[in-house]
Amino acid sequence: MKYLKYYTGNGSETRWAILEGETVRPLKGLPYEAPETDGTSLPFAGVRLACPADATKIVAVGRNYYDHVMEFHNEVPKEPMLFFKPTTALLDPDSTLRKPDFTDRFDYEGEIAVVFKKKAKDVAKEEALDYILGYTCLNDITARDIQLADDQWTRGKGLDGSAPVGPFVADGLAHDGIGIKTYLNGKLRQDGNTSMMMWDIPSVIAFVTRYFTMLPGDILTCGTPVNVGPMVPGDVVEVVGEGIGTLRTTIC
Ligand code: MG
Repeated sequence: MKYLKYYTGNGSETRWAILEGETVRPLKGLPYEAPETDGTSLPFAGVRLACPADATKIVAVGRNYYDHVMEFHNEVPKEPMLFFKPTTALLDPDSTLRKPDFTDRFDYEGEIAVVFKKKAKDVAKEEALDYILGYTCLNDITARDIQLADDQWTRGKGLDGSAPVGPFVADGLAHDGIGIKTYLNGKLRQDGNTSMMMWDIPSVIAFVTRYFTMLPGDILTCGTPVNVGPMVPGDVVEVVGEGIGTLRTTIC
């Protein structure tokens, strides 16, 4: 099943829906508990997508793919490295994002993220997948020069619009076999799979919920594979999650 959120009417409100082929079937409410369609439908073509989450926070894992750790000559962490991105970083699919003038290295990081469907605290690894609505794509956009200059990552990774999410939330995928590819202007730049993560998704959920209560709609993004790189105005970056879809962002 694929869940999506779209803008209605004049674009001031959003609704959740299920995508069936090329047909959008709106839900009566939120998708987190026993989602039910309202009996209406509309064509997917022409629907303007919104970020498919209702996040109170975005928790991110840094350095979760060994090859990505090596590309910056970092030490392999002993535990998952966590940081937050603020909700003002969220960006809808198919959006345009301005590269700020204060950074000279504005990087893409294609990632697989999960969206929680119920309150999760001290969740056992074995039960972790029961707490998620499904999987989506997230581009953990990073002002690399600022990240490397600061002692911590808040400024470099918390910029407005630095977390495009979507286009859909897909359930029913095998958590340890989701392909993740990033294309820059149509050229393949990152080619990973969640099977390559040092801490798999259930382990990361168990770790994160020891420290933070995750609420319905919250996002946990699970790290990027090797070959991150810079974006400049005019670039189009696409994060493609296998079984999820293509998350496209244009830089201006
Ligand atoms: Mg990242």
